[in-house]
Amino acid sequence: MGSRKPSAKAKRIEQFKSQLGGMDDAFERENRRKEQGAVARDAARVKKACTSKQRYASYAEAQNTIAACAEHGTTGLHIYKCPHCNGWHLTSHPWNE
Ligand SMILES: [Zn+2]
Repeated sequence: MGSRKPSAKAKRIEQFKSQLGGMDDAFERENRRKEQGAVARDAARVKKACTSKQRYASYAEAQNTIAACAEHGTTGLHIYKCPHCNGWHLTSHPWNE
């Protein structure tokens, strides 16, 4: 009973395959990194424009709030329909949204 070592050629093929696998991994990691970056940027944008803000179920409700704010001296508020939650938000910087 002799031991059956893999041939040198088989070893080289294995090595070559593992290198390819490593490269696939690198591409995969790079893609995931880009996706995560995009997701993080998106989340930051949504947070700024949506989740960090007061949400109004209707335009009228948002208008009432603007009227109430105006009574307290806060003017220049704008209402916008939120594409993220389908509700309404107020902003004093519409050009930033
Ligand atoms: Zn929203």
